[in-house]
Amino acid sequence: MRKLLLVLVAGCLALAGCSDGDSPKWAAPLASSAPAAITGADAHRLPASIPVPAGSGTPAGSTGNGPMGTHRVTGTADVALTFDDGPSPTWTPQILALLRQHGIKATFCMVGTEVQAYPNLVRAIAADGHTLCSHSWGHELNLGSQAEDAIRANLTRTNQAIAAAVPGTRVKYFRQPGGNWTPRVVAVATSLGMRSLHWAVDTNDWRKPGPDAIYNVVAGQTGPGAIILLHDAGGDRSGTLAACRRIFPLLKSRVTLIPMP
Ligand SMILES: [Zn+2]
Repeated sequence: MRKLLLVLVAGCLALAGCSDGDSPKWAAPLASSAPAAITGADAHRLPASIPVPAGSGTPAGSTGNGPMGTHRVTGTADVALTFDDGPSPTWTPQILALLRQHGIKATFCMVGTEVQAYPNLVRAIAADGHTLCSHSWGHELNLGSQAEDAIRANLTRTNQAIAAAVPGTRVKYFRQPGGNWTPRVVAVATSLGMRSLHWAVDTNDWRKPGPDAIYNVVAGQTGPGAIILLHDAGGDRSGTLAACRRIFPLLKSRVTLIPMP
């Protein structure tokens, strides 16, 4: 039993960094082995992402229908595309160009270190009218289990970097790396004026399953109010980009796409 636990824990650690972005800068690359490891990573996440109408099963005090009071849906029938782990000088400009081409506004959940490195890209995202979201300073998967002061310092530093890039901006959303929410991290984000942003449709694009698989998840699982999780950084995002070339026109034909308000 103890051996089994160790295997599971090791698998989880090996993959935890990949559960929401797999850049070697902040996470070990995806281990090529171990189905047990995938189970470990998945244990941190919600089960299959079937969108649920806002209001049903909503925890007290929440409007977003996600774990621990986070937003899993937009709250209306409108659908939100979200891009995590950037900005990336390679991929973000291409995603921005594609969004512009289709007249779509999205939400970008950005990592502080990347914001600091590429402030011009943060300005480009803001200038195009997309919503800015904090994704922690260094993509800390364990942020929620850190002390309250440490969480506050992390999130404050990230927001200051975003504000330095785009003066006068206020960051209204926070997404915990890996979706590893805790009541503490949600509470600190709330105290800093940020709503916690989860998702309803997980494309798993960080696993690089290929454009067809990414497209099929969005096509098959997107319902009213869905928040869709994609990545514009953290590794080779050519599959995500190729999928988006088909996802954007498909969604436009079905739903209204909004940046998180
Ligand atoms: Zn992430």
